[in-house]
Amino acid sequence: MPGRLFVVATPIGNLNDLSPRAIETLRAVSVIACEDTRHTRGLLEKFGIATPTVSLPAFAEGQRAGAILERLLAGADVALVTDAGTPAISDPGEKLVLEAVAAGVTIIPIPGPAAFVAALSAGGLPTGRFHFLGFLPRQVSEAKAMIDEVSQLSATLVLYESPRRLVDTLESLAEWLGPRRAVVARELTKLHEEFGRGTLLELAEQYGAGEVLGEVVVLVEGRTGETRWSEDEVRRALTAALAAGERLKGLSTDLAKRSGWSAQELYRIGLGLK
Ligand code: SAM
Repeated sequence: MPGRLFVVATPIGNLNDLSPRAIETLRAVSVIACEDTRHTRGLLEKFGIATPTVSLPAFAEGQRAGAILERLLAGADVALVTDAGTPAISDPGEKLVLEAVAAGVTIIPIPGPAAFVAALSAGGLPTGRFHFLGFLPRQVSEAKAMIDEVSQLSATLVLYESPRRLVDTLESLAEWLGPRRAVVARELTKLHEEFGRGTLLELAEQYGAGEVLGEVVVLVEGRTGETRWSEDEVRRALTAALAAGERLKGLSTDLAKRSGWSAQELYRIGLGLK
């Protein structure tokens, strides 16, 4: 009989979020496959868990998954954990699970923390439908293409982002999606847990004022239907403001915050009106 693969969620900050069932499972299995064995050791020590560990880092999941599958097929029960949260969610695990499914291994989830669920549950944006994007691609053109694909959805958009890139990402999202409501969920379950709420540009300003520390999830309200002005409304607003003597560059930036059109699009239309 093959062993079973337990996919175990671990805390995203507060170690007391490790569930009793997760502790029991981590104690009972033959081996724990970890994204980073050194990182997981701290958690295992806190709960007095002495189970051996093997490494399954993201960059080598393809090569190492086979060895773990062999152990499973030889009858060993294996637990899979990552540094934080639920394995296979923007983390290693997807390939191992796919291979285990194909090999007929029984897979048992031990659910628990996931940063995006915590952010959604307390963020204050609609949760009935959401679209999880994980991390945006680093290449701006690829990131824009991904956002363009989902820009018409009314579902709340959910993104993971590094604190270093947060402000740039909020600004880009404002340019691509218009003046939507958003939430920055920072340091969830930790001492400095915080929810920033406002429009994308307001949040970019707020977080641009200083260094952003810790981990963040970004939620963006889906398309509401009222967020983007019609071209006629845009033309009328531009015509009136230009007639009042406003400068097109500043006007385009200002109007972008309210109209759902990007500053570049507004500038182009404004040039045509001049
Ligand atoms: N598997 C994890 C999960 O279930 O959420 C996600 C791992 S992914 C590599 C790490 C990203 O998750 C971070 O960059 C951040 O966007 C988000 N994240 C993880 N922990 C967080 C926390 N405590 N507060 C806010 N965001 C967090």
